[in-house]
Amino acid sequence: MGPVSRSNNERTKDLTEVIASHEVEIVCTQCQARIPKSIAFLKATREMRCPVCSAAVLLDVSSIQGEVRRVEKSLRALHSQLSSTMRDPKSN
Ligand SMILES: [Zn+2]
Repeated sequence: MGPVSRSNNERTKDLTEVIASHEVEIVCTQCQARIPKSIAFLKATREMRCPVCSAAVLLDVSSIQGEVRRVEKSLRALHSQLSSTMRDPKSN
């Protein structure tokens, strides 16, 4: 375990935290309110209460998972773009 693997771990953790704290809008089926919730919250919760009309909002796991995958994909793409921009091609 050298300094290289340690910095890789930190980088992976950063990206995981960025993804976990990314907010997805949940739409209430009763009042159509848009409720932003973090991916970390959505992964841990199956049902919540609408803060506007107090209706129980069932979280659609499959559509949330699709959204999570989409967010992860775009953040990873962005992240690797940033990494390759910062990397000096001559040092390889
Ligand atoms: Zn509502």
